[in-house]
Amino acid sequence: MKKITITIDVEEDCPPMLISTRGIEEGLPKLLDLFKKERIKATFFVTGMMAEQFPDLIYRILEEGHELGCHGYTHARFDRMDKEEARIALNQAVKVLRRFEKKLISFRAPNLQFPEKYLTLLEEEGFRYDSSLAAYKPPFPRSRVEAKIIRIPATITSSFLRLPPSLFLPLLKHVKAPLIFVHPWEFVDMSKLPIRLDCKFNTGKEALQNLKTLIHSFKAENYRFLTMEERACLENYELRS
Ligand SMILES: [Zn+2]
Repeated sequence: MKKITITIDVEEDCPPMLISTRGIEEGLPKLLDLFKKERIKATFFVTGMMAEQFPDLIYRILEEGHELGCHGYTHARFDRMDKEEARIALNQAVKVLRRFEKKLISFRAPNLQFPEKYLTLLEEEGFRYDSSLAAYKPPFPRSRVEAKIIRIPATITSSFLRLPPSLFLPLLKHVKAPLIFVHPWEFVDMSKLPIRLDCKFNTGKEALQNLKTLIHSFKAENYRFLTMEERACLENYELRS
């Protein structure tokens, strides 16, 4: 089966540079509308803080059949915390997110930075799947099981998906089962803001058009769009077989 997974990291606009939440207020509804229209499911990794601030959107994510995952409590990096701080941050996020979804089993750390030695904390909190690895950075990790957690790396970084589709589509099709991630703030025009270039180029309409093109292109080749959970179940089998 040809498969692709779309994940969305729900956080403040381009953290830690901004604390505004235009992405969630304006970008997230557009993403949900697109997925509804295209009849595809995705995994939304949400920070505990944003879930507290925007409960109605979290309910909408779940009502429309998507998977809710955890993206920490604030967007603070776990690799800059000691183990006890990481345990507290994780528990704080889990407490909030489980109010919306009891079965919370997928995790992605902010900035895709999660020390291996903290994986047992994920297991203690009941997580089974992690997507905190970046396949596009050395040592170019592949899917694997560590500390009972199934780890599925992100295939490419989100800003790459704002380049012309003729650049990223061939690359994604070359990968066995791509897993991509985007942020709601990328679907709001950030071009006038004094932030890093990679956070603002082709944001807004262009980013949304690119995502539509991506979805149509993969649909045309009969890919199935799977959530982290749906896909990890299959990968689990593949890893064990
Ligand atoms: Zn993030």
